[in-house]
Amino acid sequence: MAEYSISQIGTFEECPLQYKFIYVDRIRRPEEGVEAFLGQRFHEAMEWLYRERAFRLVPLEELLEYFEKQWTAAWHGAVKIVRKERAADDYRLLGRRFIEDYYRRHQPFDEGRVLGLERYIRFPLDDAGRYKCKGIIDRLMLAPDGAFEVHDYKTSSSPPEQGALDRDRQLGLYQVGVQTLWPEAKEVRLVWHYVACDMEMRSSRTPAALEKLKADLGALIDKIEAEREFPPHESGLCDWCAYHDLCSAKKHLAKVQALPPDRWRDEPGVAIVDAYAERWRRKKALEGETKKVEVEIKKLEGEIKEIRDAAIAFAKNEGVSVIAGTDARLRVSGKRLLTWPARGTAEREALEEELRAAGIWDEVATLDADALDRAIAQDRWPDDLRDRLKKHRLPEKRYTVTLKEDA
Ligand code: SF4
Repeated sequence: MAEYSISQIGTFEECPLQYKFIYVDRIRRPEEGVEAFLGQRFHEAMEWLYRERAFRLVPLEELLEYFEKQWTAAWHGAVKIVRKERAADDYRLLGRRFIEDYYRRHQPFDEGRVLGLERYIRFPLDDAGRYKCKGIIDRLMLAPDGAFEVHDYKTSSSPPEQGALDRDRQLGLYQVGVQTLWPEAKEVRLVWHYVACDMEMRSSRTPAALEKLKADLGALIDKIEAEREFPPHESGLCDWCAYHDLCSAKKHLAKVQALPPDRWRDEPGVAIVDAYAERWRRKKALEGETKKVEVEIKKLEGEIKEIRDAAIAFAKNEGVSVIAGTDARLRVSGKRLLTWPARGTAEREALEEELRAAGIWDEVATLDADALDRAIAQDRWPDDLRDRLKKHRLPEKRYTVTLKEDA
């Protein structure tokens, strides 16, 4: 079994498809959000500050210079600034302010002994070693009272409520790792530095809370290992995702946005969505009328069905789940089902023969598929018979098509 980090598990929860690109297909992208870039530079500055601290106290000005040097050396063309009203320099200055605030609050940085900086840890989650976890602790400290402290820097804008930190999985998991790797760590304190607000927050875990965390994470790892479909899950985080060109929910939009404006409407997917949206709007308008318009509505429904079939065919051919139009989008979702074979097929004959041989043909006399489904679901028949019957079902994918108008 693979080793799992909290961010890996979190990525799966946020979007299974993005998880697949990163951790299954291992497709690396140079793009990174400026927020992640800033966080990385802040972490580097802190690591250097505490490494140097073993020998000397780095003056603030020198630390800021180090940060600036790292910023310039690491900057690359694929750093993405999603907030259009912001520039790279805004984030660089923000980083300087984080360092200044942190420095003033914590100097002379002698609150304990440093046991590790950016310390990579690997450990089993359970006694049997079935689940393996890993992580990087920003700073592991031995406090003067003998307690171990796990310190984590956060450059995100606002701190969570205390209750959320008391349930935080990342540092809770690091505590599991610390107590596994250093059994002498009887007491562990979890410390977050929310540097954007110049706040330090703390939490601790009871043994029961750690056991629950381990069980929850084990269940999530099982879910990841069993996943076969990896569906996309669109959210606000898509703006920071580097895989739009591969994502079934985004790649059609990415493709048409790259076209010159005068070629948008001619693109086959856009034409389908525009045609669908136009009929759908006309049908909606007619449904609001008081006079008799059934004939027109029927005609539009027929057209919508044809366009719907074209949309499903387009989605299948292009491997997309969302098709972009000029001012609307069509979501085409497919669901895998198992269905009983149709009349007149060899598969159907084999099923009917099995039902007769089992002496239950009369119960579903005309082989009503719904009656058969109900009988199987109700556990009316012995398990081995139900298993044999289930084998007659054929896989089928059913599609739904929904229109979403752009805001
Ligand atoms: S663009 Fe959004 S839905 Fe697509 S892979 Fe990325 S996060 Fe997932």
